[in-house]
Amino acid sequence: MRAVWISETTKLDWDTATAALQHAGFNTMYVNFASGGAALYPRSAVLPSVVSRDDIARGIQLAHQRGIAVHAKIIAAFMFKVPPSFQQQLTAVNRVERGPDGKPVLQSGQAWLCPSQKANRDFITGAIREILARYSVDGIQLDYIRFCEQPSCFCPHCRREFEQVLGKPVRHWPADVMNGAFTSRFIEWKQQVINDWMRQCSEEVRKARPGLPVSAAVFPELARAREEKAQDWKLWLDRGWIDYVCTMTYTTGLPEFEARVRTQQATIPRQKLVVGIGSWKLKQSGDIASQVAIVRRHGAAGFAMFSYDDFVARRFLPNLAAGR
Ligand SMILES: [Zn+2]
Repeated sequence: MRAVWISETTKLDWDTATAALQHAGFNTMYVNFASGGAALYPRSAVLPSVVSRDDIARGIQLAHQRGIAVHAKIIAAFMFKVPPSFQQQLTAVNRVERGPDGKPVLQSGQAWLCPSQKANRDFITGAIREILARYSVDGIQLDYIRFCEQPSCFCPHCRREFEQVLGKPVRHWPADVMNGAFTSRFIEWKQQVINDWMRQCSEEVRKARPGLPVSAAVFPELARAREEKAQDWKLWLDRGWIDYVCTMTYTTGLPEFEARVRTQQATIPRQKLVVGIGSWKLKQSGDIASQVAIVRRHGAAGFAMFSYDDFVARRFLPNLAAGR
């Protein structure tokens, strides 16, 4: 798999992009379709649509004619491109992640959906259902299917749910779950929440389009992903909820990159490993080629570069046919 991520779906010129990617030797596009509160396609019945024109169906057709698969990427918890008014609305009814001070957790000014709330998880499963009914995509990829890496979520709903599982009230909230008697229980509970969400998303895809690949973009170091983000991606693979992972191995140093690929390969079967390359961090096209060569040497299923938008801004695309 020779893939590239595309962030700015609403600004994408599908004709130019698919022609250029075909020419450069790419065969897969991971395109943002929805986030925790926004549909990047028109007329969604599930989420506010941030676009009115539908270029996607025709775009997928063009991609297919050019031998490129299109996977719909869904940014599960992060409110990417979510209209401020909708964020405020969800914040007012306590549906966003909250930090230890009770304030909404923000990244680049955007809030996060609280993953423990069913109504929030339903946004994403609903979007998956809608996308699969409407577009002939070749796969579904979940991204940001996790808690925010900042200490979270300490919203009233999370407290209630956790106390129910614990079977007693937490006297000092959030101190007892941050650095106290219930810290590890809280981490376990958060993992359970995300695992359930991942399973629900997977079931949605399997039901609608059996055999369609499901993947997840994940933090590459498994122990830290589990501990800091409640993202237990190895379990998701073991349970068959996802078919492969894209490990966001965004490092510039070649020895470090290779060491990480080696660790990932020792953790999961190599045919289930697509290595994410942080091409936007790499100044020279030679550096990109070197990382691609490492992925190929280690026999992973493929690689995915972040991002097409960056390549457009820099006016170049690495030629993948070279050295293959
Ligand atoms: Zn919460």
